[in-house]
Amino acid sequence: NKKPKIVILGAGYGGIMTASRLIKSNTQQDAEITLVNKHNYHYQTTWLHEPAAGTLHHDKTRMEISSVIDLKKINFIKDSVVEIKKDEKKVILENGEVDYDYLVIGLGSEPETFGIPGVNENSFAIRSVNSVRLLREHIEYMFASYNKEDEKHEDILTFVVAGAGFTGIEFVGELSERVPELCEEYDIDPKKVKIYSVEAAPTALPGFDEELVEYAMNVLESRGVEFKINTPIKEVQDGKVLLNDGEEIKSQTIVWTTGIRGSSIIEDSGFETMRGRVKVEKDLRAPGYDNVFIIGDCALIINEEINRPYPPTAQIAIQQAYTCSKNLKDLISGKEELDVFKPEIQGTVASLGGKEAIGLVGDRKLYGGSASAMKKIIDNKYLFQLGGVPLVLKKGKFNFF
Ligand code: FAD
Ligand code: NAD
Repeated sequence: NKKPKIVILGAGYGGIMTASRLIKSNTQQDAEITLVNKHNYHYQTTWLHEPAAGTLHHDKTRMEISSVIDLKKINFIKDSVVEIKKDEKKVILENGEVDYDYLVIGLGSEPETFGIPGVNENSFAIRSVNSVRLLREHIEYMFASYNKEDEKHEDILTFVVAGAGFTGIEFVGELSERVPELCEEYDIDPKKVKIYSVEAAPTALPGFDEELVEYAMNVLESRGVEFKINTPIKEVQDGKVLLNDGEEIKSQTIVWTTGIRGSSIIEDSGFETMRGRVKVEKDLRAPGYDNVFIIGDCALIINEEINRPYPPTAQIAIQQAYTCSKNLKDLISGKEELDVFKPEIQGTVASLGGKEAIGLVGDRKLYGGSASAMKKIIDNKYLFQLGGVPLVLKKGKFNFF
């Protein structure tokens, strides 16, 4: 009478919260639980724009998995998932394989390139500790390089951020705060630095509240950011982006934030996907696979009020972890009727660097200091959910004023 095996892939918001909730409900007594992740640490993807610009050290955004998950209660495998063999109930890892009775897929996302040539080869991404550490180092290297040559190349101090969605805007906010510090450190006239935010749609943050978008653009423009709106990028080459209107911008630092798609592992493993995401059943299981749950950025769920997908967010990934862990426990104890996932969107708050931010919480619009404080409260709340007061004290954000 062997215990059923639950395997969780990915220790991001969805995966680690599922593991944490399973432990809280003592599911390890009735099942053998295994968590698989590329790294031995969990990082907060929602904070990555900060270490990417160098306004926060990356260690603040990550924590060892063993510090938040009791590894006496579940197994942890540090390895990369290569393929899911769903018909054989087996996962192929870079250095081995693991079989399961129940699987939770929380492998997160990859940058969406829309097939635009040159993106992968010539741009930076804001997706992981590794990718943002490289970007931060590169930015600093640009400043360090500028005064080395007699002939000054302006493209060294030109930064292009492709896409003015939330990731692009939050990164531009941090970068525009960081630039004055870097200019001072490397004896550079701030007027030499150019930051472009290039957006295909007729506005930055398309679909978001117009007043808040205007506020955000004004804040960023006052720090020297130049918006190119209604301007799709059509190609990226080594050292430049080509815009749809025929213009080109020379830059040694092109940051690609035009949206995301689900981890390619899912598509490559034969699941039917839309932009790499699986349209899951109401109980978060994959269609046709009653023993596979898909959560977070890998899952597509429809907002029936507007008949469009919910944007993939940490907020939803965390809430899905609660439903997913409850449904797993129920399945194991023999229940057939599972809970339906219903997101409760509490709001959207985006930082603009420093003490500036915008937010929409219910019907309330938040600007500046109050939005920025709200953002920190949201970040701290997650830490509390995962690791209680000790984790908030260790990794939380307290510089409210
Ligand atoms: P992730 O949290 O990305 O975790 C995926 C995990 O899987 C990672 O730990 C990764 O290492 C691991 N992994 C990946 N591939 C493999 C593999 N092959 N093998 C093993 N492990 C693997 N959302 C909000 O709600 N609010 C915000 O304010 C917000 N701000 C954001 C700011 C930025 C800069 C970005 C980029 C995103 C932001 N988001 C925000 C979106 C949010 O971060 C994502 O929706 C959320 O991280 C999705 O959670 P997840 O668990 O699906 O994936
Ligand atoms: P996104 O899809 O929200 O935005 C991408 C932007 O890039 C869009 O405005 C799009 O019009 C633009 N774009 C697409 N192709 C382009 C091209 N060729 N040239 C120029 N612009 C182009 O993606 P994101 O900003 O990466 O966010 C991903 C997810 O994470 C979203 O669901 C978002 O809501 C969430 N997120 C939330 C927050 C927050 O709540 N504070 C912060 C970051 C991300």
